Amino acid sequence: MAATFGRFSKALVTSSRGFLRPRWLHSASGVGPWQQKNVPQLEETLGFLPSPLTVLSDEELMMKETVAKFAREQVAPLVSKMDEEGCYDPSLVRGMYENGFMAIETEPEYGGCGSTFFVANLVIEELAKVDPSISLLCDLQNTLFNTLFRKYGTEEQKQKYLPKLATEMTGSFCLSEAESGSDAFALKTVAVKDGSNYVINGSKMWISSAPQAGVFLVMANANPSAGYKGITCFIIDAGTPGLSIGKKEDKLGLRASNTCAVHFDNVVVPEENILGEFGHGYKYAIGMLNEGRIGIGAQMVGLSQGCLDATIPYLLQRKQFGKALFDFQAVQHAVAYLATEIECARLLVYNAARLREAKQPFIKQAGMAKLYSSEVATRVTSKCVELMGGVGFTKDYPVEKFYRDCKIGTIYEGTSHIQLNTIAKLVAQDYVA
Ligand SMILES: Cc1cc2nc3c(=O)[nH]c(=O)nc-3n(C[C@H](O)[C@H](O)[C@H](O)COP(=O)(O)OP(=O)(O)OC[C@H]3O[C@@H](n4cnc5c(N)ncnc54)[C@H](O)[C@@H]3O)c2cc1C
Repeated sequence: MAATFGRFSKALVTSSRGFLRPRWLHSASGVGPWQQKNVPQLEETLGFLPSPLTVLSDEELMMKETVAKFAREQVAPLVSKMDEEGCYDPSLVRGMYENGFMAIETEPEYGGCGSTFFVANLVIEELAKVDPSISLLCDLQNTLFNTLFRKYGTEEQKQKYLPKLATEMTGSFCLSEAESGSDAFALKTVAVKDGSNYVINGSKMWISSAPQAGVFLVMANANPSAGYKGITCFIIDAGTPGLSIGKKEDKLGLRASNTCAVHFDNVVVPEENILGEFGHGYKYAIGMLNEGRIGIGAQMVGLSQGCLDATIPYLLQRKQFGKALFDFQAVQHAVAYLATEIECARLLVYNAARLREAKQPFIKQAGMAKLYSSEVATRVTSKCVELMGGVGFTKDYPVEKFYRDCKIGTIYEGTSHIQLNTIAKLVAQDYVA
């Protein structure tokens, strides 16, 4: 029986002993991980079961282990090659689809796993422990692309795209332009109505996965006189006349993920290709990026953990002055700090993901999770290179790549300054309220 406690009323249920306890918001079955792990005394002592963020439900644990195995066996052997060649290995991308990692939340009737947002973040984290580039592919497809179709697509659009996005097709999300990055809604790409079509002109920049994408979600202004309220989201298939892929960026990190300009030169799309409502593109972009930031946080946590995991065995084995590097207290303390920072970042990310899943306010926590985890990633990777000495600076060990890959965390899906702006605004609101 649900109790009535204001906005938490849906979250509270009466236990068999008459205590109020939270419904397990992050478990599809309504049964929490602690219950599954048989820790019933707490319920009697406290009257409710608090949910430790890092204790996972059976479903979460199963997916985490499946991905970890995939990352170890399939991704790890290809990481250096993909970094050098600057592209994903096609067999690996196929494996991502075959294992369901590209449609984690997508409902089974559209060919997806029907799992949760939290699980999507676990997958992103596990992949990033081994390769942040392949983790980005998973992140964008799940947290931005599929979600936009699932939330705003018509039934026809869902039927047409979601099954392909679950099995073979990569999507690219096109918001940024040369003149509009942080100030995203100053975008200049326009869509002009022509009968029952729209004609799209403009250029996008920094578009991840553009060369391999089968479909693009493009933010264009279809009513510039209304300012940002004219921004509309269009579905544009790869190969549509007038759409071309421009220069590939030569990047510091995430080199296996292709980042390119995309040009739209009189691209004609029927009006049925509007995703959601006319003029609501800015809302969709804000909403998706707020959620997507949790995914980037998960990527940064995974990256940091992967870097530390690659460093500690070396510290235990390498001897100087007659003892292992790890035996020096200075090294132990450095490792302790790094491990603590990663744990803090993980808790922020998990909490933001669980809040989003519980339909609780999460925007401030998502901003904090991305801000903090990307800063932690820069500190952890830099320190790991130092702790390993000369070899940390070479490609013989993965830490130099983690060091290069981490920098993007403070830039995409809202720079650290933009996260700080958002967090400050929401903190101030708490006090005004
Ligand atoms: C590898 C990569 C992949 C990407 N993938 C995609 C993608 O798939 N789709 C897509 O649409 N975009 C993508 N982007 C774009 C990305 O989201 C932008 O780069 C990001 O939003 C920052 O914009 P900008 O590069 O124009 O920097 P700018 O906005 O020019 O910012 C430069 C500096 O000024 C600071 N600054 C700007 N405004 C303020 C302010 N108000 N207060 C304080 N400081 C401020 C910033 O924090 C930053 O330090 C990608 C970028 C990269 C590098």
